[in-house]
Order: sequence, then structure tokens, then C-alpha cells
Amino acid sequence: MRLSEHEAKEILKGYGIPVPVGVVIRVAGELEPHLGVFGDQIVLKAQVAVGGRGKAGGIVIAEKADAISQAEALFGKEIRGIPVKEILAEEHLEIGKEYYLSIAVDRSSRMPLLLFAEAGGIEIEAVAREQPEAVKTITVSPLLAEVPPFALRDLLGGMAKDLAPIVNKLYRIFREKDAILAEINPLAVTKKGIFAADAKIIVDESALARQRLEKGRAQTGREREAEAHGFSYVDLDGEIGVIGNGAGLTMATIDLIALYGGRAANFLDVGGGADRTRVKKAVQLVAGLPGVRVIVLNILGGITRCDEVAKGILDAGIPQKVMVRLAGVNEDEGKALLAGKGYMMFETMDEAVKEAVEAIR
Ligand code: GDP
Ligand code: MN
Repeated sequence: MRLSEHEAKEILKGYGIPVPVGVVIRVAGELEPHLGVFGDQIVLKAQVAVGGRGKAGGIVIAEKADAISQAEALFGKEIRGIPVKEILAEEHLEIGKEYYLSIAVDRSSRMPLLLFAEAGGIEIEAVAREQPEAVKTITVSPLLAEVPPFALRDLLGGMAKDLAPIVNKLYRIFREKDAILAEINPLAVTKKGIFAADAKIIVDESALARQRLEKGRAQTGREREAEAHGFSYVDLDGEIGVIGNGAGLTMATIDLIALYGGRAANFLDVGGGADRTRVKKAVQLVAGLPGVRVIVLNILGGITRCDEVAKGILDAGIPQKVMVRLAGVNEDEGKALLAGKGYMMFETMDEAVKEAVEAIR
């Protein structure tokens, strides 16, 4: 997923890479109240996800006096076929030199590849074609949290002193945002310092689901409570409570619920070797979730013993809600403890889940 320039710059700023003062507008009039923060000239940049916007007329350097009408005109345009819906208005920089800096995933070495060129601003492909010696590259082991100093010297040469901090920050962004590309072009040298005048970040689509999960975790009070008890726990929004031992088994249970047309209310992994108090706590916690009508308790005994789990289930004391699948170590003892106590018991998780989905139809 490609972020827009202003989203990318917001991230850069958050990591301490200087970016020009700017504001995003959706109609020209929105610029008016912000005019005071700019100098005599304002750069209007169409937020369209195409390369070479500059050449295609997507970047306009306007005098403050007619910046609003220029923005109006830019909103009426299409840049390489894409209508302009947002404009990033920025302070105009007096650019002395333009560098190119990027980090991408190098597929052949399967490592982050850092690229630096003293000739920036224009497309790096053109630089690589016309002056290949101007483009410096290094790869960095993905296991390293930082770019080693010797690698920075190889990449940046005499500019290492000025640019190393920016490269390090961009590398952190690349790792922490799961980027497949993080690019600054141009990295602009001005009298006021070095700025990221343009930025492009592409986030790995496959990583987005994980990021959402991490963001959502520990947000709700219940998630904090569950984590305090040592459970791996995530709130979901269905009607079927889920308790399993081991993340894989618990996720498989949730998948199976979805397969049969149901919706899981939560993810709760009691962890390895859970004893009766933990199991009791887990059952009570999930039973107390708003909207939960049945609970699928799916245990594959190993380090966790089925008889211990059965005792925990009995302690929780809500047979009408709990559908139990016990298999593995001390399975017979566990089943014997639960027999005749009103619990629905199943040999396989498939049967347990099917019944749970049926039960709330
Ligand atoms: P791109 O064409 O989509 O890559 O857009 P950029 O944001 O990289 O802008 C292209 C070029 O416009 C840059 O390389 C600069 O030469 C020029 N440019 C952009 N912003 C400024 C600015 O604030 N001041 C000056 N002098 N030039 C700018
Ligand atoms: Mn650019």
C-alpha cells in the first residue's frame, strides 16, 4: 500500500527527519487561514500517487498573493490521468543540492538495500542509467536493528557526518512500519538544514493485518485484564466465545467457526500447562463477554492436562454455555470428571464448532 506524500512525511517527522512546514487541503479555500505560516512563496503539491509529478505539472510554485487561485487551478487538473483531490501546500525551500536516499527490499539478497546518490531530485532510474557510478548501494542484514557505522561510511562517503542520522531514522521507519520501500527524493540541502522535500513509503500489504492487531491489542480494558492474568487475548465481535491452548489451535478454532458461518467473540489462549485456576478464570472471563451465547473450549492435552482443565471448567460452574472438546493427556480422567454434569462433550473440534454454530442459529 502506497502512502500519500503527506502521510509519509508525517511519519518522517515523527521519527525526527526534518520536513518542510506544510498543510493538506481538499479545497482551495482551506489554504486561507494557513497563509500566515508561509513565506512569500508556497509550493503546491498534488497528492497523486504517480512518479514525476513535477514534470507532469503536479507541482506549482506560487506567490503567496495568488496561491489560492493557483490551488484552485491545480484542483481542476488531472496529473497523468489522476484527478487532484488533495494538495499539500508547503513552505518553499531554497534548495542548494538534491540527494537521493532510499531503502527497499532487495529480492535477490533478501535484505534491505540502501541506495544513495548525490544526484537526486530526478528519477533514480535515469541516474542509474546515465551515471551508474553516482549510485551507491549497500545491503544490511534484516536481523540488525541499526545500520552499522562502517556500512554508513560505505554508503555516504564524505557525507556520512551530515546524513548518517537521517539514514538511521529512515532505516528505523523501514523496519517498524513494515515498508518495502522508504524513499526520500529529493533529500534537499538548504541554508536552514537538510529536509525531506519529497517522500514515498510503500507498506507491505501482508503486514497490515498484523499491525492492526497490534494496534487493537491492550486497547480495551478487558484485553488488559486478560493479559494481566497471563492469557493471550484479543477482543473480537461475534457471539461464540473461544478458549484454546496454544495460539495455533485457538486460531484454528476461530477459522472453523467462520467456516461454519459463525463469528468468534474473542481469542483466548490459556497458554501451556494451564492449571484449574487459570482455566476457571478463562471460562468466567469469556462467559462474561457481552453477546457471548456459547463457548467452545478446545483443549489438546500435552503439558496441559485434561483432568486439570476439567476441574477448572467445573469450578467456573456454567455448564449451559460451555461446549468441551478434550483430547490428549489424561483425556479419560477429564471426561470422567465432567460426565453427567450437563456439559456438551465432543470428540473433535469440528463437531464442537458445528454444534456451537447450530446452537445459536
Ligand atoms: P516528484 O516529481 O513527484 O518526485 O515530486 P518532488 O516533490 O520530488 O518534486 C520534484 C522537484 O520539484 C524536486 O526535485 C525539486 O527540484 C522541486 N521542488 C519541490 N519542492 C520544492 C521546493 O520547496 N523548493 C524548490 N526550489 N524546489 C522544489
Ligand atoms: Mn520526488
